[in-house]
Amino acid sequence: MADLGIPQNTIAVLQKYNFVFQKKFGQNFLIDSHVLEKIVDAAQITNEDCVLEIGPGIGTMTQYLAESAREVVAVEIDRALIPILQDTLSAYDNVTVLNEDIMKVDVGRMVQERNQGRPIKVVANLPYYITTPIVMSLLENHVPLQSITIMVQKEVADRMQVGPGTKDYGALSLAVQYYARPEVVARVPANCFMPRPGVDSTVIRLSRYQEPLVKVQDEKHLFALIRASFNQRRKTLANGLANGLGISREQVTTALEEMGLSATVRGEALTLEQFAELSNLLKKHSSVS
Ligand code: SAM
Repeated sequence: MADLGIPQNTIAVLQKYNFVFQKKFGQNFLIDSHVLEKIVDAAQITNEDCVLEIGPGIGTMTQYLAESAREVVAVEIDRALIPILQDTLSAYDNVTVLNEDIMKVDVGRMVQERNQGRPIKVVANLPYYITTPIVMSLLENHVPLQSITIMVQKEVADRMQVGPGTKDYGALSLAVQYYARPEVVARVPANCFMPRPGVDSTVIRLSRYQEPLVKVQDEKHLFALIRASFNQRRKTLANGLANGLGISREQVTTALEEMGLSATVRGEALTLEQFAELSNLLKKHSSVS
């Protein structure tokens, strides 16, 4: 099968199958072989790897992944793409295509079955309408994985890697940085896709830590705390948390004081380490009261 990283070959496949792009599925197919090579390089795929690709489209990146990996599992929601994938991937016996919604796939079980529970690598040109839920679910559910190398909207990549005190800093930054080390791999202009998206894109690699860098007693509490802090961004932490977590203002103020922080501090000023410390203190105080 011809290299789909070459635009003419993608056009030929789309015409052959009279394919109609579905906006609701975030379909913007890559048509640039340099970008494809960069993504696969950044993902550091070896012939021992089991790779999960989310949203293979017509199989463009899947071909590149299948050349390097031991095995590729590609999960595609759009039924109309399945016969196309059977065609474009017919040369590869190491690719399994599943016609599923990734949000409904038990990825942990898939890793158990396909890779005996050993960490997989996730690679994807993600549908932008569900980038955050996909990434959060892979990280929070502790799916065994080494890295997630993904094309995302530029603004989302910015949010994943910034620190305190910037407007992009928020729950996504903290969640990603708790579990993984983010690194931007490439900026990708809209003309590398068909059809062209209305936004610029970035390839980012999230390398998962074996152990999170900060120690926290209760991960769920930490993330409830983080979400409550940013849900009411304009409020001080003491007010935001009292509302969001159903605890007293005094409890929050006492914990902040213990940390040497002002009672009027806002969530966007706290580092991940400080959120972890605050979570541990609030847990400690709630268990003694
Ligand atoms: N990987 C292809 C490429 O790079 O050319 C296509 C990328 S396109 C941005 C996103 C793909 O994800 C589309 O094929 C779309 O149908 C698929 N998709 C959208 N939502 C999905 C979901 N919930 N589960 C699985 N695939 C999904």
